[in-house]
Amino acid sequence: MSTNEGFTCPACRKQLQTVTICDTELEACTNGCGGIWFDAAELFRLHRPTDGAPDPMLEKLLALSSPASQATRGKLSCIKCGTPMKTHEYRENSGIFVDECYACGGIWLDGGELKAIRENPAVLQSNQERAQMERDFAKKVQDEKIRLAEEAKKRASRRRI
Ligand SMILES: [Zn+2]
Ligand SMILES: [Zn+2]
Repeated sequence: MSTNEGFTCPACRKQLQTVTICDTELEACTNGCGGIWFDAAELFRLHRPTDGAPDPMLEKLLALSSPASQATRGKLSCIKCGTPMKTHEYRENSGIFVDECYACGGIWLDGGELKAIRENPAVLQSNQERAQMERDFAKKVQDEKIRLAEEAKKRASRRRI
């Protein structure tokens, strides 16, 4: 764990710490509200209860709960790009509301929300659909990259003619 100079907790304004949980590096509010920042797609890796030895940092974060409730803390801004985040239900019928940056795909979980997500039947059930969605999205991005590269190539060859 090291102090990260760059990021401040969007909920309680304490300094976020860089922690490694299950081989994933995350920014977490370990000295404050227990909130955790996930870059796009990182959260999915921590969805399911992990096999093998429990991760002490994960256990610690799961145990922390948030004094900065969504009702009182106001709108959050993305710690990475500053975009105001949107609050939405994490999964249909999960009853868990998370903050997501639609610009960079980052997700902020308040303290306790990761635990709720990992134990939520709607989330567990949708793990597979989600994996599929992420594969589809990655493919879409890849296809778009190829398309743009081909267009650029075409433009370049037109200029040569
Ligand atoms: Zn905090
Ligand atoms: Zn962002």
